[in-house]
Amino acid sequence: MNTNKNTFSGNVAYTTPSGRMHLGHGLGQVTTDVAIRFSALKEGKKPFFPFAMHSTGKDLVKIIKQLEGNEDLSPVLVRYNISIPELSKILSYPDLDSRVNELVDIYRGQYEEVLKSLGTCIDFTTFFSSHQAENQRFTQWTLKKLDEKGLIVQTSSQRPYCDDCGEIKAIERDLSEVSAKGKVDWEVQRIQDGKIAGGEFYCRLHSNTPITVKTTSERAIDYSNSQVQDKVIELSAGMKIFPQKHASDLEEIIRTRKAKPFERRPYEMVGAISPFDDTKKVEALADSNIYMEFFPVAQMVKEGKLKLQNLSDQLFDFVYLGRGNVDEAAKASGLRNETIQELSQRVSQIYPMDLSVIGFEHKEVHMPFSLFTRAAILPDSFFFKEYLITGHITNSGEKMSKSKGNVVYLDETLKDIAESHPIEGLSKESSLDSLRFFLAYYQYLDKDFDWNQTQFISAGVGGVRRFVKGIEDASRLILLNIQTPSLGTRKDKWLSTIAQRSIEESSRYMEERNHRDSLILSVDMMGKSLREYVHSKGEDNGLVSNFVSAQLALTHPVMPRVTQELSHRIFGNREISWPSYNPNLVFPEEFEEEEHIRNGNEYVKRNIKIISAEVEKLIGKKYVSPKGQVEVSVPAQYLKNLLSKQDFKLPGDCRITYTVDNSSKLSVRPIN
Ligand SMILES: [Zn+2]
Repeated sequence: MNTNKNTFSGNVAYTTPSGRMHLGHGLGQVTTDVAIRFSALKEGKKPFFPFAMHSTGKDLVKIIKQLEGNEDLSPVLVRYNISIPELSKILSYPDLDSRVNELVDIYRGQYEEVLKSLGTCIDFTTFFSSHQAENQRFTQWTLKKLDEKGLIVQTSSQRPYCDDCGEIKAIERDLSEVSAKGKVDWEVQRIQDGKIAGGEFYCRLHSNTPITVKTTSERAIDYSNSQVQDKVIELSAGMKIFPQKHASDLEEIIRTRKAKPFERRPYEMVGAISPFDDTKKVEALADSNIYMEFFPVAQMVKEGKLKLQNLSDQLFDFVYLGRGNVDEAAKASGLRNETIQELSQRVSQIYPMDLSVIGFEHKEVHMPFSLFTRAAILPDSFFFKEYLITGHITNSGEKMSKSKGNVVYLDETLKDIAESHPIEGLSKESSLDSLRFFLAYYQYLDKDFDWNQTQFISAGVGGVRRFVKGIEDASRLILLNIQTPSLGTRKDKWLSTIAQRSIEESSRYMEERNHRDSLILSVDMMGKSLREYVHSKGEDNGLVSNFVSAQLALTHPVMPRVTQELSHRIFGNREISWPSYNPNLVFPEEFEEEEHIRNGNEYVKRNIKIISAEVEKLIGKKYVSPKGQVEVSVPAQYLKNLLSKQDFKLPGDCRITYTVDNSSKLSVRPIN
């Protein structure tokens, strides 16, 4: 596999189309987009952000059943965001498959429009939907490969069951086959004493039919295979997981998976025909394990270079597994060698997927199955390099749901920004970045995101407004020709130090997908410092130019349109590139002195407070005994001199020795 690929590739769990996209989708899409844009910019690669839909299962059939109804359709049309002409078009097709296809196409159009307004760098030429025959070929191939490895097994046990469907239902956190009423305990053993435990569940298709228990014999994917589990855990050790708190759960999640039945009766469901029983279809979780590998095929199908009949097992074997040779694959697939080579080339430019993003609800369902399947059948080089898990989204502390009527829709919010909250001095399109900014800035990724309209206007729209104004005010100091900083004054060196330290820390936060802390530096901290510098009549044109240029680059992944527009206005056609840290532009002595002058006695107090808190911690951990001795390393001689003259008492009456280390922050360690 090509380790020098020219793309940074990432995907977000594909959407099950079920009406308008809401903020939950927005959070996943924006988080993924920011991460891909950053890594591509930093590594000098092209971003690859594909788009697909998960349309298999029963959701779309359920929508179509409602659209076919005889009662008043207006609430249904509103709920699923279907217009009357669209309804007529759907119903003009005689069969369910074509109706599903039309519905998917309607949603594809709607989602594409929203995702473009959201400013994502998605490549829409990659689009496919899991109801399409070409993708189902790939699903069937996947299952056949699992079978070759002995991972398709027959299991007999008690399972959740719908009497009306006459078949088993998976009760999983993603709620793809059942709906839950009231509170659910996800930790509990689901079937106890022949009954469903830990919650009340109903069939997704028959909303009034409770899920019962039945003993059935089923064909299953054996996620309990310990050899493959070992391999997943081994390969996962080389995979980054963010937020990091999720990493420690992975091994247990992998180890506790069981064999999972994947065949369902074909009645009223969308799915690939099972390769082992043509009277059954593949349920919707089993077809999404390695769908991320299908994008180049989808692209070439769209371009007319591949057709359904070309998608043979031999083609997939050759392209994905390196099995056989190109001549045999060409012969078996009815393709020219060059076409297969082109597909192989595209695959090697995209995979391994550098990043995969999922919602929290997929953590115990989709994630382990996806890792298991790729470890089982694909070469190790296809294993993801990084996994990112986003939280839930709530509205002012409450769960968003259609029945409560508190769902925040993306199209509505974007329209509202354009009409009522444009950013002065920016195009309407760029103003839409305020939603991206808010989703990346307002909450940490390891917490649920709580939407609040008032906060959005003040922190989101207001935040971008202040950012733009700060840059515009400072840009008056930027001259077109002089760009070398003179760094003649202490104030200049102070600002230069802030720029360099922000570049270093902001880059590190972005690597850890901690977009919020990165923005606190690049927007809040840098913005405030720049305002102060301009306000106090700083006049180093080259420095301001470099500072603004760095600020625009650091915030570019989050606000691509805002930063592009400002950059174009200030710097002309210069391309935005990720800035690199330059230690020669850091001046610790001048920085500390300037901080002292700006903040007066507060500056001294702040430093003493930090030292005291550190000593307190060391005593708490028994690293230092009371009346012991600590060494305080400070970043500047200036600060050492200043602190040495202060008369203050440390916790435990500890004694202090000072050292100076220009390259690091203030730190305290025990001396024994
Ligand atoms: Zn049912």
